[in-house]
Amino acid sequence: MPLAHRDASEITGYHAHIYYDADTRDEARSVRLGIETRFTCILGRWHDQPVGPHPKAMYQVAFEPDEFPRIVPWLMINRRGLDILIHPNTADPVEDHDISPIWLGNKLDLDIDSLRQFTIERAKKIAGD
Ligand code: ZN
Repeated sequence: MPLAHRDASEITGYHAHIYYDADTRDEARSVRLGIETRFTCILGRWHDQPVGPHPKAMYQVAFEPDEFPRIVPWLMINRRGLDILIHPNTADPVEDHDISPIWLGNKLDLDIDSLRQFTIERAKKIAGD
């Protein structure tokens, strides 16, 4: 029996996480300005310290599936050397980050264990444990 395929309609939206450090903050600012003036998206705040599963400073860009074919090609040719994680948002955040993402530039090591733990805790809370 063939393995079942997941349907892409499970994807409710995407995040792009734009990574930077002290030396590349200007590039990150430039990319951010470019995004801000072109796309329908929600720009997260600057995180100068690692947060959640992310191993370095970054900001998040949230966008809907319809925006994907506009924003992702633009990032491919305008990322200014920055590493970018693009992951889908489905009901399974661990898979979204660990199995399903695409990377522009270098693939960084995400802290998937902390994400897994967070997801378990959240599920317990929802279940009323
Ligand atoms: Zn994200």
